Amino acid sequence: MDSIEQTTDVLVIGAGMAGLIAAAELQQAGRSVRVLDKGRGVGGRLASRRIESATFDHGAPGFKASDPWFISQVLQARLNGAVAPWTLDAAEVHPDLRSWRGTPSMSAVPKQLSRGLDLQLETTITHLHPHGDRWLATTASGHTFASTSVVLTAPVPQALALLDAGGFGLAPELRLRLDAIEYERCLTVMAILDGPSRIPSPGGVLFNRGSIASITDNQAKGISAEPAVTLHATPAFSFEHWDHDRLESGRLLLAAAADWLGAGVRTFQVHGWRYSQPKIRDNEPCLLVNLAPPLALAGDAFGGVGVEGSALSGRAAALAILALRASPQRA
Ligand SMILES: Cc1cc2nc3c(=O)[nH]c(=O)nc-3n(C[C@H](O)[C@H](O)[C@H](O)COP(=O)(O)OP(=O)(O)OC[C@H]3O[C@@H](n4cnc5c(N)ncnc54)[C@H](O)[C@@H]3O)c2cc1C
Repeated sequence: MDSIEQTTDVLVIGAGMAGLIAAAELQQAGRSVRVLDKGRGVGGRLASRRIESATFDHGAPGFKASDPWFISQVLQARLNGAVAPWTLDAAEVHPDLRSWRGTPSMSAVPKQLSRGLDLQLETTITHLHPHGDRWLATTASGHTFASTSVVLTAPVPQALALLDAGGFGLAPELRLRLDAIEYERCLTVMAILDGPSRIPSPGGVLFNRGSIASITDNQAKGISAEPAVTLHATPAFSFEHWDHDRLESGRLLLAAAADWLGAGVRTFQVHGWRYSQPKIRDNEPCLLVNLAPPLALAGDAFGGVGVEGSALSGRAAALAILALRASPQRA
């Protein structure tokens, strides 16, 4: 072990929706919080990417809001210019502001949430284990972060790998519950076109059959300077083609979408989301897997669906930690 950082009240692993919401709630309640993420940017599956002068939302293209607390967060984000009403499904009527996207792109949402947080990117935790009344989280380079509580928001198989590597044994019934959680895969094509697509306003078509789950027109959405579409493959196609040549799979998907593209493909890239969305999730909004020192698992595998489910799960984890640690002990 090279060095141990000063202990914080809470270490949040993962700067996706769940982790950022948990961190903000805990910080607002007066806890010292550090957020770590292995990525180069915040957001996890709320992701945007530039290819040449085109911009793509290549994770979640948008999200829904139905919970009153979450709606209030979204409306605040709207006042701050980070979201706008939008739906992937042109047939959907949404007079009550239930469907949203990030503005200018989806990564605006996590970027805004991360403001004012103590955040460290490009930091991959490899081991997590309790040591006395603290948790120790160790990186690949041997650096160790200490905290009195942890909120762990990596997709569940990755979260379990950290605990396994740290030698932390979960109670058998919890282990069974967590091992039951499964995720769909999603192959995603980002293609720059040589002209506007045929995708109707407001810029999305939902299929969920055959090889294509959805196509989003990033130019029609207003985020890309040039014609650029994101194609999400169905779970069945993604599973079947996961180990195949990615460019070849991309060509198959673009051929299947040709009628909707209506223009030539100038260039494209393919991204594979190994943990796209859970197909089997736990019913609890978060899971406290250790009480002393506290460890809560959170994310879209717990409670609700998608971005909203992650936010609610992050909040539930923060409230659970606060309830356990009514008077924080600083090291
Ligand atoms: C293709 C696609 C389409 C989607 N479509 C929709 C949609 O239409 N509507 C909707 O609501 N939702 C959609 N979703 C799902 C939505 O994006 C997720 O539910 C939500 O963003 C998950 O947030 P999270 O915080 O739970 O997890 P994540 O966003 O995955 O955050 C976890 C974070 O943990 C970090 N991490 C993992 N392991 C480590 C480690 N060892 N050390 C440090 N950091 C680590 C990761 O880098 C990541 O940033 C979609 C997702 C995908 C991929």
